[in-house]
Amino acid sequence: MAVWAILVAAGRGERLGLDRPKAFANLGDEPLLAEPLRRLEACPWVDAIVLVAPAGWEEPAILIAEEEGCGKVRACVAGGERRSDSVRAGLAEVEDDALVVLVHDAARPLVSDEVVERVLAPLSEGWDGAVPGLPVGDTLKRAGADGSVLETVSRDGLWAVQTPQAFVAETLRRAHAGDADATDCAALVESAGGRVKVVEGDPRLLKVTTEDDLATVSAWL
Ligand code: C5P
Repeated sequence: MAVWAILVAAGRGERLGLDRPKAFANLGDEPLLAEPLRRLEACPWVDAIVLVAPAGWEEPAILIAEEEGCGKVRACVAGGERRSDSVRAGLAEVEDDALVVLVHDAARPLVSDEVVERVLAPLSEGWDGAVPGLPVGDTLKRAGADGSVLETVSRDGLWAVQTPQAFVAETLRRAHAGDADATDCAALVESAGGRVKVVEGDPRLLKVTTEDDLATVSAWL
């Protein structure tokens, strides 16, 4: 099994204001989790999947995987308090012979084969990791707590980074060996000295945070 995908779905998604975690919010007439799961299952570059569910929600997550006929799902484990803890829990289930690990946010349901191919390519050119990103288009300003503008920040060379993120398996394991936290896996790989490349992302990889995001993604489906 060369390429393993960890699908992190253990976030609470409090901003959606539901009585259940974000992964179980309705996207159309299905739970959100079903969409990225089905897409990774069908992706020819992915050999095996580890599903990271909110603690106490492993059973319903497994049920969705079964309903979708996801034969690539090797394990479903409970996530942790922080995203990096959830990735650590998923990594513990990835077998030793994995060469590459893809980490994907379930909250970005519209993952495509094309973006998976784009993040995998740099690994065969010697990069330790690759992330999809979109060049920042808006003007950036740093402001104080009261909204007063402190400075305008140059957007030159700035990217808004998404998932799926691909890494050499050993590099990702080493980066997660301690208890460090970051908002994405690449940040931990970078601090461990790894070389990470940004490749072209996809606007449709929007991360669902609010009701409006759910409506947008569901309209794109
Ligand atoms: O919280 P955030 O929007 O950054 O979450 C991004 C992804 O990480 C989501 O798919 C969410 O389910 C997952 N996550 C997780 N465990 C956490 C926090 C977030 O699996 N403790």
